[in-house]
Amino acid sequence: MLSARQLFLQHQAQTTDFPLLLEVERAEGVFMYGPNGEKYLDLISGIGVSNVGHRHPKVIAAIQDQLDKYLHLMVYGEIVQAPPAQLAHALAQTLPAGLDNVYFVSSGSEAVEGAMKLAKRFTGRTEIIAFDKAYHGSTQGALSLNGAESFKRSFRPLLPDVNHLQHNHHADLERITRRTAAVIIETVQGEAGVRVPSQDYMQALRARCTEVGALLVLDEIQCGFGRTGTFWAFEQFGIVPDILTCAKGMGGGMPIGAFISRQEIMHSFKNDPMLGHITTFGGHPVSCAASLATLKIILEEGLLDQVNAKAERFKQRLAHPAIKGIRNLGLMMAAEMESFDVLKAVIDSAILKGVLTDWFLFCDNSMRLAPPLTITFEEIDLACDIILEAIEGHV
Ligand code: PLP
Repeated sequence: MLSARQLFLQHQAQTTDFPLLLEVERAEGVFMYGPNGEKYLDLISGIGVSNVGHRHPKVIAAIQDQLDKYLHLMVYGEIVQAPPAQLAHALAQTLPAGLDNVYFVSSGSEAVEGAMKLAKRFTGRTEIIAFDKAYHGSTQGALSLNGAESFKRSFRPLLPDVNHLQHNHHADLERITRRTAAVIIETVQGEAGVRVPSQDYMQALRARCTEVGALLVLDEIQCGFGRTGTFWAFEQFGIVPDILTCAKGMGGGMPIGAFISRQEIMHSFKNDPMLGHITTFGGHPVSCAASLATLKIILEEGLLDQVNAKAERFKQRLAHPAIKGIRNLGLMMAAEMESFDVLKAVIDSAILKGVLTDWFLFCDNSMRLAPPLTITFEEIDLACDIILEAIEGHV
């Protein structure tokens, strides 16, 4: 029998050497369905992608509507395309005044790349500061920012002027200086196993960046688009970024990302070279249409109002001696188990019982719980019953 980790690797490599344990033919709402009547409750959401559930009818309708018009036109010509224009406008309305210049790309890593280049161009500086256990993507620039050496060592040399600070550690802030172009931080660290910084720390970080003229880049690729209970996670910390990156949940299942900034910053991308971060597919009309529908669903269907109550339900229902605690901001949750072995056994057993959970890249003892925000209380109860059953079988 394959472990969950083997399944993951198999999926990534797209090999056909061994039969798939988890064959999914169709997905709808919080469920995925196999060819022989199997039903899996998805507590991962593609790692924060399916925030509005799988195949939300309004997302599908928006995609179909755009399919009937056009798929792809010239991105950098004189053509004004409605989907990216409308999406940029809608995004700006969710953000503090001035954060209204949106540069579309096709993934999170690309958004991070763009944000770093923009910061270097605008400030004329080269140093980028990131954090221990950070995850910002797998392209070479984004990879350089990741906290874990195990991920980077085989690919050196990477970006030369990157330094890492200790997360949530006030004393380290002095290492941000007048030679720092940007400090990039996940507002809530995802792959570290949901590490939520203190509000106090985030405000001190904001103040230090302002003091030395470094740009503060908030990476909300995993924690944005409603995941934490507010549309953007930074709303809960009383700070505003200079550049914001988003992707994942943004597309409702379609590939799209963006970095967003103020006009005076974004305009430094206009010349020398012209079009500082050119990409063929960035702002793809079909992805933008899906994203606009996703944004509206989150804001108009009251999903944000219930995020905290749903997270609480998980916490109440998963009160068990084998779970040492649940770290979370909204429905971005990590349930800490006593050891990696127990975690692995419980994840594998839960999958076989019909609940898909997961671990984190840089945290060996915690189970990822990141269901679609549309999950109902009954579905939460069902998921928790199965997880508890899986735990009972292994402790
Ligand atoms: N930043 C964060 C916080 C992420 O969680 C991820 C992906 O997990 C990325 C960046 C990279 O995004 P992508 O996989 O779309 O390139």
